[in-house]
Amino acid sequence: MPKRNDLEQKALHYVVNTGYQGVLQSDLWRELGASSREGSRVSIKLEEKGLIRREKELQEGRWTYRLYPKRLPTSIETIVDCPCLLCPDNARCDPTTAISPKSCPRLTDWILGLVKEVLATPEGPSEPSITEDDSVAEGLDQK
Ligand code: SF4
Repeated sequence: MPKRNDLEQKALHYVVNTGYQGVLQSDLWRELGASSREGSRVSIKLEEKGLIRREKELQEGRWTYRLYPKRLPTSIETIVDCPCLLCPDNARCDPTTAISPKSCPRLTDWILGLVKEVLATPEGPSEPSITEDDSVAEGLDQK
């Protein structure tokens, strides 16, 4: 079994790579070769550190968690369609002039589109609650 810190790092890396889709807790532990018990502990730890969020999800009649990264690394894809990149007014655009990002409808539309995308993804952190995975971990803690 991998060390807990190694497992935390690997789990966080994996969750971050899933982006907005997130990953089912059970799939993650299967992928990392960890037990459900250890996996639950690590995911709770990552959530407590504010690195991921867990959302309850019903899968094949059983409650589990889907894990989402709280922060995603910035990539070139996030700005590739920014209107400023190909804007003919780019060289003259300045916040102190009439051609300004402060009043640009193209930039505003683009930003609003990003906001809509983010809002279409699952909501912010929810209260942690006990799932089957967590119950298993807690039951083993009491032994
Ligand atoms: S803010 Fe508007 S005007 Fe300025 S560079 Fe971007 S798209 Fe062009």
